[in-house]
Amino acid sequence: VTCGYTGIVSLENKDSMIRTVVLHSTMRVIPMLDQLRKGLQLYDLPKIMKTHQDLCLPLFVPGEDDEVDAAFLLERSRPVFSEVGSAKHQKEVNIINFLQDYLQEIEDSGIKDVTPEGLTVGRIMQWMTGQRHKPVLPSENKDFVIYMKFNHDCDTQHTVCFPTVSACSRTVTFPSAHLKTYTEFKNILTLAICHEQTFDRV
Ligand SMILES: [Zn+2]
Repeated sequence: VTCGYTGIVSLENKDSMIRTVVLHSTMRVIPMLDQLRKGLQLYDLPKIMKTHQDLCLPLFVPGEDDEVDAAFLLERSRPVFSEVGSAKHQKEVNIINFLQDYLQEIEDSGIKDVTPEGLTVGRIMQWMTGQRHKPVLPSENKDFVIYMKFNHDCDTQHTVCFPTVSACSRTVTFPSAHLKTYTEFKNILTLAICHEQTFDRV
C-alpha cells in the first residue's frame, strides 16, 4: 500500500501488486543513480566509463575477481581454540590443519578449481557464510571473519555427525570426535557441503 497500490489485496491481483512494488522500488532507485551520475560527472568519469567499459565494470559490479581463494578463507578464519596444551587443543589444531589441506587440495585440483564433486573454494565459502564472493565494501571486508568452533561433546554411540554452519553469525562448528583423520575430515566435509540443503542449518 505504501508503494501506491490501490487495488484489492487478493491472490488474483498478485501480479499487478508485484508490478506496483517493483515499479515503486525502481522509481526510487533511478533518482539516486541519476544523482550519482551527476556527481561522477564532476570527474568526467561517465565519459571514461563509456570509452573504457571493461576497466570500469569491476568498480561497480562484483565479478569473478572477487571469488575467494583458499588463502582468503584461511586468513579470515578465527578458530576458537581450547587451552593450549590440552588434548582438546591438539584435536582442534589438527582439524584446522585438515581444513587448510582440504582447501588447498580443492584449489589445486585442475580445471577451474573443480573437483569430481564440483567443489570450489567459493562453494565452501558459500556453505560457511552464505556468500561466495569477498565483501565488496571496504568496511564490510575489514570485519569479515569466519568463526570456527569445536564440539567435543559427541559420544561414541553414533557413527557420524556433520559440521554445522550458522551463516548469519558466520560460524562453523566441527564435531571433533568424527574428524580424527584427514580422510574422515574430507569425506564428512564434502558430504556436508554437497548436501547442505538436506541438513538443518542452525
Ligand atoms: Zn557425533
